[in-house]
Amino acid sequence: MAFNPFTMAQEQFDKVAAQLDLSASLRSLLREPMREYTVSLPVRMDDGSVRIFRGFRVQHNDSRGPCKGGIRFFPGETLDTVKALATWMTWKCAVVDIPLGGGKGGIDCDPRTLSLTEQERLCRAWIRALHQDIGPVRDVPAPDVMTNAQHMIWMLDEYETIYHGKYPGVITGKPVGSGGSLGRTEATGYGVICTLSSALQAMKIDIANTTASVQGFGNVAYYACERYGKLGGKVISVSCWDNKDQCSYAFKRQSGVNIRELRDISDAFSTIDKKKAIELGYEVLPGEAWIEQEVDILIPAALENQINAQTVAHIHPKVRIIAEGANGPTTPEADEVIKSRGIFLIPDFLCNAGGVTVSYFEQVQCNMNYFWSKREALEKLDEKMAAAFRNVYDLATSKNAYMRDAAYMIAIGVVAKSCLARSWAT
Ligand code: NAD
Repeated sequence: MAFNPFTMAQEQFDKVAAQLDLSASLRSLLREPMREYTVSLPVRMDDGSVRIFRGFRVQHNDSRGPCKGGIRFFPGETLDTVKALATWMTWKCAVVDIPLGGGKGGIDCDPRTLSLTEQERLCRAWIRALHQDIGPVRDVPAPDVMTNAQHMIWMLDEYETIYHGKYPGVITGKPVGSGGSLGRTEATGYGVICTLSSALQAMKIDIANTTASVQGFGNVAYYACERYGKLGGKVISVSCWDNKDQCSYAFKRQSGVNIRELRDISDAFSTIDKKKAIELGYEVLPGEAWIEQEVDILIPAALENQINAQTVAHIHPKVRIIAEGANGPTTPEADEVIKSRGIFLIPDFLCNAGGVTVSYFEQVQCNMNYFWSKREALEKLDEKMAAAFRNVYDLATSKNAYMRDAAYMIAIGVVAKSCLARSWAT
């Protein structure tokens, strides 16, 4: 059966909801999104033709504040994937205790095959189709897979053109100087490493004696590698998707990869040039090699469904921690194996919550029209991430629960409370 991320998100929810004393109405409310939009986007291509793209936005739950979540450009994007990601956003905002709900968007497209002007028209078309359903007090998009600050400012510009005013709070991940927050670009990867350091401290392991293998080399992976390296850890392999070969590759160097030299030989979609990497002394390994490495730590930071019933068996016996930088990288079947092997897992909606946290800080700064230094933004990020990790870790320890289940217990409890306060359920 084909992998369905929304079925997986519901399965994870159902498992923990069954252990909590939730009413039938609360369960029914929380296991489905509150609103789903599917739109057709006609876009004039550079050759004069018009192509129709499908776009999505899903608002899972906004009982705690406006919805918040990225918009992905992804070939074959489906409504169900966006529903899953919106659901995880609700739990993410709750677990790090920021006053926002869960949303997510996507467009079925491959930006690698679109010119910049076509991408701009696509961004503007998505806003024209959905502007009445998003906004600073409704739902605030942000960058995600294959979208960046440039896409966000085009979207903001279209929204402000329609509403004839300045609305910096409608979108986050904007360029610095145009309403963006310093530290937003680094936030998700740095947050991953904040939770990883907390886990290592709790396990009494010195980060300087550890090695890691990372899946992906995009925004999350790059800054996770950067911070992990600064703290003394050694990344021995990173990986990326090669669209030309339709295959992924791991780039390995036992003495440690140099992320700056790899970035210098990557394209705008963080695909690393294989030939140049070999010249620099890297082993280039096709397929799922990232998961087989003999390391202490695995950081999946690419996509959902990467550690599944098949690939989980390839995790090396030395691995002690998995820090989920990506959303939904591990399936429930793989969770069972990870649990039985005693590998410590930092679940996605805790581990990668740094992005939404600094997005929230960006909204706060836009509201004040007063911007913080990078140091201030990143210090506040660490405070939030460390506190969230500690809450989940303490609950997991006291209940002898798997970290993912403990994170769900906290997040569901927080969201249930706000829904009950509004009489949305009994
Ligand atoms: P990105 O587009 O910047 O990078 C994605 C990376 O994954 C690229 O290097 C790509 O080559 C690689 N990749 C894709 N398929 C692969 C495969 N099969 N094997 C190996 N590598 C593969 O995206 P990103 O923003 O870094 O997001 C990565 C993950 O983190 C996604 O799951 C996203 O939803 C999640 N996330 C992102 C943010 C954020 O702030 N950007 C926040 C929270 C969670």
